[in-house]
Amino acid sequence: MNEELRGKVVAMLEFYRELGIEEFYIQRSEPTNPTINSARQPLGGEAAIKTASVQKDPDARTESRKVVFGEDPASLQNSAAAPVQSEEPVGPVPESMSLFEPPSPKTAPKEHETLEQIREDLGDCHRCRLASGRKTIVFGQGNPHAQLVFVGEGPGADEDIQGLPFVGRAGQLLNRMIQFIGLKREEVYICNIVKCRPPGNRTPMPDEIGTCSPFLLRQIRAINPRLVCCLGAPAVRTLLGVKQGITKIRGQFYNFHGTKALATVHPAYILRNPREEKILREDFQKIAEFLKAPR
Ligand code: URA
Repeated sequence: MNEELRGKVVAMLEFYRELGIEEFYIQRSEPTNPTINSARQPLGGEAAIKTASVQKDPDARTESRKVVFGEDPASLQNSAAAPVQSEEPVGPVPESMSLFEPPSPKTAPKEHETLEQIREDLGDCHRCRLASGRKTIVFGQGNPHAQLVFVGEGPGADEDIQGLPFVGRAGQLLNRMIQFIGLKREEVYICNIVKCRPPGNRTPMPDEIGTCSPFLLRQIRAINPRLVCCLGAPAVRTLLGVKQGITKIRGQFYNFHGTKALATVHPAYILRNPREEKILREDFQKIAEFLKAPR
């Protein structure tokens, strides 16, 4: 393996380790799980790198998530931009990193564009491998002028079928939390860092996030909310470039592209750990206080 490729593989493994996935092994045989590997290209005898652990911290949105590096490692050489990783210290209102460095003219947010224009530009997207396994593109849903935007990880099975974000069990919990702070779901905007369901609900890979999230950034720019709420570690890492675990940084506000962002745990974590619901309530309380304060 050459140095450049080795660096990319190490960065990718580190990314997953920070999400709580720590065991990695090389699988030399063809995969046997057609669901998890539905978006994969044939390996052609090359080794696939596969993770086998269950996520064990609040970063995980599904109960038992295996991450399969769905391709020959050599193809990582062609992977798209990975999320920016910040070395900034975490403080009460730290500056976030920009989403990508530098944005290409094609993916850079454009001034004064509407959500409809962004949706049109996205089209029948096949920019990354997730397209081959999805049923529906889940663009986002809600008030195009919302003061509050929620960003989750990626569509699950229910979202993939309905084409709408957070409509499964995690979505029901999110709805309850939105009501808890006196808002209606229609008043906020809900979206994800990737718009297509990752196979087996695995965590989106850095290159998939890198390809998809410029559209997310454009959506946020178009909506121009007062607050972006990042649900779970992948959203936090993608939007804020913050590496620390979600339990350390949850409930904190960040500067984010001229507005503010708050990090909290993913609702799916609370579904698995119902006794922790108070931390989500605490963070939502902060959201409510923030939105009540004058601009
Ligand atoms: N989990 C997410 O992160 N996003 C959804 O849209 C649904 C579940």
